[in-house]
Amino acid sequence: MPPRDLPELIPPYLRALSARSEAVARQFAPDAREALATPDDRDDPIGDHAHSPLPGLVHRYPDRVLILPTLACAAHCRFCFRRDRVGAKGMSDAQLDAALAYVSARPAVREAILSGGDPLTDPRLGALLRRLDAIPHLDWLRIHTRLPVHDPKRALKVAADLPEERRAALWIALHVNHADELTPETRAAIRALQGRGAFLVSQTVLLKGVNDDAATLSTLFRALVALGVKPYYLHHPDRAAGTEHFRVPLARGRAIAETLRATLSGLAQPAYILDIPGGHGKVWATDAFVTPAANGWVARATDGSLHPYPADADAEVAPAEPK
Ligand SMILES: *Cc1c(COP(=O)(O)O)cnc(C)c1O
Ligand code: SF4
Repeated sequence: MPPRDLPELIPPYLRALSARSEAVARQFAPDAREALATPDDRDDPIGDHAHSPLPGLVHRYPDRVLILPTLACAAHCRFCFRRDRVGAKGMSDAQLDAALAYVSARPAVREAILSGGDPLTDPRLGALLRRLDAIPHLDWLRIHTRLPVHDPKRALKVAADLPEERRAALWIALHVNHADELTPETRAAIRALQGRGAFLVSQTVLLKGVNDDAATLSTLFRALVALGVKPYYLHHPDRAAGTEHFRVPLARGRAIAETLRATLSGLAQPAYILDIPGGHGKVWATDAFVTPAANGWVARATDGSLHPYPADADAEVAPAEPK
């Protein structure tokens, strides 16, 4: 099956930034190579569907659940790992009720993670956070968002609407891939979220032609720590169909991670993470879990099972589509 054709979506702010930054432009401008299907690619690269007991809820780890209230994002990232679903209809109110009942009934769940799509684009966010906050066995809540990068003015408004009185700590994982994304507007949105008492961490996807060298990543991670945002994960790119031109070989990602370890403060080090294809979970992409094998790599999941991972060719970086 050819990869799904993800509609172009670039809000005016991001279009203007794309005109000034090649690294930003490459992340959002549709590219003819997205139509290429490769044998290793998957529609559901991290196996969400296999661990979904209810629509919109993924329960892969015993102590935390993922809830995807909306599949809408303010912009469409061309490398999106949920590319098969982004932009589709999110959860109905009844499905959200069912997800909350599922969490309420399971005291072993200590953390609810809102992802998507972008939860900051869902008008129900404030109400949802209040309801989750009322579930006593949730020690903290987490939101994954890219809205401060996609549309910082909109993120500022959402920050102002976050519930002020909260029991559980609120963590926000900001998806940011390049220092060019940290404009004055985005910095203001980050400060506004921090001003509402949220703790910010970042996650970055390693992307060919965008940030796949140690110097570019150092600049980003230092800028984040200076803003009070702790780099949390550097994700090896997931094998979503239509994203092959962004893929960095694991060997090169590991070399970059080693250079970062040698040159950067511990505060500025994210963990380099491989989400083992097929829903086997996230592991550190270091020797502890990933070792060389005849045709590439073997990744050991936390349950001890072993999974092959391809070597991948280190293709030339072609120029981005003209704007
Ligand atoms: C990535 C993910 C999480 C969060 O994992 P952390 O390592 O805690 O960041 C939780 N549930 C699912 C289904 C995930 O894919
Ligand atoms: S913000 Fe995340 S979910 Fe939304 S399009 Fe980008 S990568 Fe996909």
